[in-house]
Formats: sequence, structure tokens, C-alpha cells
Amino acid sequence: MRVLVVNCGSSSLKYQLFETDTEESLASGLIERIGQNGGHAVVHHRPQGRAEMHYDMEIPDHTVAAEEMTRVLCEGDGKVLDSLDEIGAIGHRVVHGGEDFATSVLIDDAVIECIQRNSSLAPLHNPPNLDGIRACMNVMPNKPNVAVFDTAFHQTMPRRAYLYAIPRSFYRELGVRRYGFHGTSHFYVATRAAEMLTDMGRDGANARIVTCHLGNGCSMAAVKAGKCIDTTMGLTPLEGCVMGTRSGDIDPAIIPFLAQARGLSFGEIDAILNKESGLLGLSGVSNDMRDIQVAVREGNTDAEEAFQVFCYRVRKYVGAYAAAMGGLDAIVFTAGIGENDARVRSYVLEDLQFLGVHVDSDANNNGRGDRLLTTPDSRCVAFVIGTKEELVIARQTEAICSGA
Ligand code: ADP
Repeated sequence: MRVLVVNCGSSSLKYQLFETDTEESLASGLIERIGQNGGHAVVHHRPQGRAEMHYDMEIPDHTVAAEEMTRVLCEGDGKVLDSLDEIGAIGHRVVHGGEDFATSVLIDDAVIECIQRNSSLAPLHNPPNLDGIRACMNVMPNKPNVAVFDTAFHQTMPRRAYLYAIPRSFYRELGVRRYGFHGTSHFYVATRAAEMLTDMGRDGANARIVTCHLGNGCSMAAVKAGKCIDTTMGLTPLEGCVMGTRSGDIDPAIIPFLAQARGLSFGEIDAILNKESGLLGLSGVSNDMRDIQVAVREGNTDAEEAFQVFCYRVRKYVGAYAAAMGGLDAIVFTAGIGENDARVRSYVLEDLQFLGVHVDSDANNNGRGDRLLTTPDSRCVAFVIGTKEELVIARQTEAICSGA
């Protein structure tokens, strides 16, 4: 089946077309700067095996963006389909499913209403996700649409892991609890790691795995026998790891302290913690780990400290999750930093010999692609696994639409 995977942000629409029988990607693209006042949107279209296309055009909203996506897939130099009839289904990334969705689901009116209801938990994400769903329904009527939620994989967490120790009424009445995000990525790499462990002659099915998704946003998950039992992000993606511009864990009392000391509003503090903190806030250099590493090589001590705080937080959670699972069989690194930055991986794994992790420096520093990073005598292994969130969305969409 040909499945179109769509991921909409407030001003962007990302897409990828898969042939699920072969798991081949036929084309991918990004339409950015949608609805920019007086400006033009930019379309990037990448047909498999052919030249990329980049062009500007006026795109006022997501429906026009979806029209352009379908046009470029079916017409002109980047054409990969003879007609839209070839698309069997559309899979949508939806950020917040709240407690309503523990799996992917065929979208109908009730599902749309539920996603809308959960918008209070993800006001920046669910509304544009819904815009994308409605746009595809307008432009490609009568096709099945499936929602794949970032939160779904984490719904197996036990109550002791997701309840915050604040008055219960906030959970009961407002849904304040840990939800976790990047679930599709954690699910994919944990599943791959289990397969790789089995291939090594170990017990992949029952393995205790910590997955580290380290990209612009960073989160970790404790996965035991294929089920998520804890994760670092919380009610929102602000909790947990240090990220590009997000603080991750802080003492919550810092918020009223700053409000008083600096006369800042809650909105201003929220913006500081989400957009001016993390690697950027600590280094004063950049939110991008590549820039941090350049600055480190140039002797910038703030950048080195930002790097160390980032890695130390990850290492600390590895230890916490090993305790939560009663031991550890594998650590997985994925996403932009996790897949590419050997220095981050090496620093995180440095003092984990007590867990039986022994790093193979050559594999860590010079290897490519999905691979083992540890020596054969390691009781607990480490892997790099490239995440494939879009492929998971395509697979789950196909499974739901073919009734599998
Ligand atoms: P997103 O969360 O937006 O999908 P990515 O997974 O692409 O983000 O990760 C972006 C992060 O990955 C940035 O901090 C970037 O610096 C980092 N990154 C990408 N390539 C490299 C690399 N070769 N070495 C170190 N960091 C990298």
C-alpha cells in the first residue's frame, strides 16, 4: 500500500510517501513558512533518486499546502504518482493523545473531537496537527486517515511513574500527569534494539532497555519487555533532559523566585525555560550541538560546561532507569545528536562500567549506521540506531487500514 505520512506544525507541513510492501520511501518534502504575512512559503521536494526541488510560493494555510503537496507528487519534474488514487491511506503524526489513545487509530469525527479536547495539554501542537488532518480530508476526500500519537507508547507507564506528588485534584480535574513524548521514536528504536539483542543470542523479548532520543528535543525512556515504564518528558516536553533551548528538570521554586527577583511574568519565564535555556542558555553560543563542539575545540569553557551538563543529565537518567527496571541490558542512542555525536555518547557511557558497559572506541568513533558500541564482554550493551518515526507511522497506518 502507498501511505502518505504527514506531520504538520504551526507553519510547516512535512510529508513522506512510502510503499509499505517494500518500505521504500518514494518521496519526501517540507513546506515551511506557511501563512507568513507578506512572505512566501518555501517548498522542498525530494523525489527518490532524482534531483531535489526548492521553490517559493504564496501558501496562506495548510489546505493550500496540502494541495501543493498533492500537486508536486503527481505533476512536473518531481512526480512520483500518476494519480492520487494510488495513495491508499494517510498517516498523521499527532503530538498529544492524552489518556484517550494508547495506540494509533483510524480518524473519525469522535477522534477529531478527542484530539481537539487534548489541545489544552498541547496548545502549540495539536491544533496544527488537526489543521493538517482537515487539510488532507479536504484535498483527498474519502481516503482513510490514521492518527499516530507521540504520547501513545508511554501510556503503559505505571501510576507511580506518571503521577506528580501534587494534590490529586489537579490530575483528576485537569489531567496534570506525566505523558511523555517522542513515543514513536522510542518504540521504533526499542523494538530494533530487542531484535539486535536477539540476533546476538541474548533475550531481546524481555530486555531492559534505556532509549535516548537526543535531537533538538531530548527525551529518554525505560522500556522493559517492550513496554515503556518511565520517560523523562512530563506534562509537557520541558521536563527531563537538557535540550537545545529547553532547561529540562529544574527546581520548580526557581519560577516564583525569578518572578520576584526579576519582575518576570509567568509567560516570560515560560519562554525563557523553553526557548532561551538548555545548551543555548548555558553556553551562550548556540542551541546546536555541532556549534557547541566547535566552540569547545576553540577553548570556550562555557560551551564545554554546557556539553558536560547535557551528558551528565543523560547518564544520571540511565542510572535511575537501571534502578527502576532492576538492571539494564541495553542503552540506545538515536536522533541528531545521539546518532552523530561520538563525544556525547562516550561521555555519557564513561562511568557506566559498573553496569557492565564497556565501550568499543573504534565502533563509537569511526563506525557508521546502526551498530553495537560495546565490546563482546559487555553485560549491558550500547547501540546507535537511526530513528524512523515516519516509517513507523506508515507501518501502523497500513496495518490499521488493511485490517491487520
Ligand atoms: P529534531 O528534534 O528537530 O528532529 P534532530 O534529531 O535532527 O532534531 O537533531 C538536531 C540536533 O542534532 C542538533 O543539536 C544538531 O546539532 C545535532 N546534530 C546533527 N548532526 C550532528 C553531528 N554530525 N554531530 C553532532 N550533532 C549533530
